[in-house]
Amino acid sequence: MTDHAIRHNWKLSEALALFALPFNDLLFRAQTVHRQHFDPNEVQVSTLLSIKTGACPEDCKYCPQSGHYNTGLEKEKLLEIEKVVAEAKAARDKGASRFCMGAAWRSPTQKDMPYVLDMVRQVKSLGLETCMTLGMLDQSQANQLAEAGLDYYNHNLDTSEKYYNHIITTRTYQDRLDTLENVRSAGMKVCCGGIMGMGEDADDRAGLLVQLANLPHHPESVPINMLVKVAGTPLEQAEELDPFDFVRTIAVARIMMPASHVRLSAGRENMNDQMQALCFMAGANSIFYGEKLLTTANPEADKDRQLFQRLGIRPEQRETHCTDDDQESGLVQAIEDERNSRLFYDASQSAASQRA
Ligand code: SF4
Repeated sequence: MTDHAIRHNWKLSEALALFALPFNDLLFRAQTVHRQHFDPNEVQVSTLLSIKTGACPEDCKYCPQSGHYNTGLEKEKLLEIEKVVAEAKAARDKGASRFCMGAAWRSPTQKDMPYVLDMVRQVKSLGLETCMTLGMLDQSQANQLAEAGLDYYNHNLDTSEKYYNHIITTRTYQDRLDTLENVRSAGMKVCCGGIMGMGEDADDRAGLLVQLANLPHHPESVPINMLVKVAGTPLEQAEELDPFDFVRTIAVARIMMPASHVRLSAGRENMNDQMQALCFMAGANSIFYGEKLLTTANPEADKDRQLFQRLGIRPEQRETHCTDDDQESGLVQAIEDERNSRLFYDASQSAASQRA
């Protein structure tokens, strides 16, 4: 069987064997698979907006939005649709191709659904791909969102089934799998991944990837997050994950789900440029760009543009909505501008930004 075959019958032992490869061999394999499915110099760019922040009834131990922990996070009610649309327009004009909206809910209530559906319709009408993360969905809610035009639904498995109870107790692993099935049955694309550095071991990282790769369809988008340790959450003091183990996780995800976008997601702001470049080499080909990643800071847009420029990376063209080129050209133009500006790679400036 070739490296790039799409498989749904991965064994834990196979995933562990990939993790155990010498680092250079693993990266070479991942990059080889990556090139069979994607342009290696393109990265998909999304923007994420929190449409309702904090006071979540779930107890996810990594999350500052959980009402179970006191993290000093300012709670916000559901954002008005006009504000969301204005943010989406701004993101589009800065070159994002997909707009992701996240609400800290266990699941949306009947009262919330009309607002959320209207949001989807209006953001979609801007020519953006739409993504939401609203917690658990039953089949009827998933169907309504799909009918409103929602392209992607994000619902992470977070970790392996074995380690899951150490992280969340208020919803089960099966609850999460059920939501993923409802999303898929409604015809939406799935965004599903996990978080590394929560005290899990290599078996758990491999177990999560096996779970994802053995779903009936691979998630189109697989966010691989590095834990952001937020004061006040139970994982505040979690042991530091070796950065190479994080890169390995990206590489193994790339090999096991060759045609999925592997997203370098939360935790990116704590990675230096070299680490991010290694992640791209390992097969990451999607990022959140500028703005804020829900409640944790995300590297500033200028820094992202500089990094793309220095690595020769282009933002990926949108799969759909190609009638209006303005949105995509925004980021292309921004990169082009910087090629000609003082922000074009300057070693002294770069060193300063690393220290900052
Ligand atoms: S991760 Fe989501 S479900 Fe869990 S506490 Fe945070 S907002 Fe709530």
